[in-house]
Amino acid sequence: GLGGPMDFGRSKSKFQEVPETGVTFLDVAGADQAKLELQEVVDFLKNPDKYTALGAKIPKGCLLVGPPGTGKTLLARAVAGEAGVPFFSCAASEFVELFVGVGASRVRDLFEKAKAKAPCIVFIDEIDAVGRQRGAGLGGGNDEREQTINQLLTEMDGFAGNSGVIVLAATNRPDVLDSALLRPGRFDRQVTVDRPDVAGRVKILEVHSRGKALAKDVDFEKIARRTPGFTGADLQNLMNEAAILAARRDLKEISKDEISDALERIIAGPEKKNAVVSEEKKKLVAYHGNYLLAMNSEEVLKVAEEVIFGRENVTTGASNDFMQVSRVARQMVERFGFSKKIGQVAIGGPGGNPFLGQQMSSQKDYSMATADVVDAEVRELVERAYSRATQIITTHIDILHKLAQLLMEKETVDGEEFMSLFIDGQAELFVA
Ligand code: ADP
Repeated sequence: GLGGPMDFGRSKSKFQEVPETGVTFLDVAGADQAKLELQEVVDFLKNPDKYTALGAKIPKGCLLVGPPGTGKTLLARAVAGEAGVPFFSCAASEFVELFVGVGASRVRDLFEKAKAKAPCIVFIDEIDAVGRQRGAGLGGGNDEREQTINQLLTEMDGFAGNSGVIVLAATNRPDVLDSALLRPGRFDRQVTVDRPDVAGRVKILEVHSRGKALAKDVDFEKIARRTPGFTGADLQNLMNEAAILAARRDLKEISKDEISDALERIIAGPEKKNAVVSEEKKKLVAYHGNYLLAMNSEEVLKVAEEVIFGRENVTTGASNDFMQVSRVARQMVERFGFSKKIGQVAIGGPGGNPFLGQQMSSQKDYSMATADVVDAEVRELVERAYSRATQIITTHIDILHKLAQLLMEKETVDGEEFMSLFIDGQAELFVA
């Protein structure tokens, strides 16, 4: 029954309890890093004594961070499945209702049940719905939300690390979370779950083709290439739509045509338009690549884009870099004594740390004449860096092309692959 108004304090269960999820890490394709990190949580649940015997406090909470549909819920279920423990789950948004106090009592209720079934996993989806920085809301505080989050903190502080309850919470916005949630003893661990790259998408397609009749002409590699930006949920949806199309066409098997048609429909759909990165965009990104940046003088990249695409096609990504370069150059002159003319003195007001990308103070305490010298010195520094970058790129354009090609194929390139692009001594030039 729905319960009368006197009933709301005695929360209706707003959580699900699953004794055995039956999900394992094998059901989660790709996401290798996340699985590796969560394997530790599985071990905490399975062998708590191993840790407590050494006096270790077992973590209570772990945040799963990533966009919707990337498999955070699936991973949480897999942790419970791997450890063979019950799975309690709820969406934080459901905690918060019209009546003040309901959310808090639901949280209390959830943890009461969970503690009775320990060891177990408690999974809280969309934690940002209640976990936003308190007092940051529009139009004053939100009592209900604050009470809910306070209750959650009380619960987490209340049980010992070795009580066998481990709380996993999912969010796409770790940046807006109340810092109290992230303190030691609460959600002090984070596991990132990203959108899958090409190889990951192939594996996910394989998982979601299990139990489906596929024609021989279906090539996962090709589908994966056509679906950059797709999450696991998107790919699952794609395969399901293709199966529905095949049934509607009275086919016995799903062929590449059904998958193509389903894909077209999904991409043409209103929300998914942005999910797929166009080839053109991919190429720009590949050339812009922060990969060279990581190993080499910053300048190389911005110029790379210009050399390849022409000045008029330089992206905002690159113009941001230009701004960054100018800012760093200014700091070099004003604060770090890189200019002979200005000398080894720090001039100008206190600025932010340029390496943390902080805003520089615009307040200057030197004369107009000095300002002119500073400007000229900054310009010269930037121009020198720019021409050196142009020179490096033109000399080694073949390496850049190879790297871009690899990036377009694979979307990610690891350090070893990166280094393999360099033949013999060439690497020195870049690493120097
Ligand atoms: P999230 O919690 O991140 O929003 P879900 O775990 O709810 O995402 O994912 C929705 C569905 O998408 C899953 O049930 C699963 O079928 C599919 N899916 C997502 N990621 C993967 C993956 N890495 N491997 C296999 N299936 C996935």
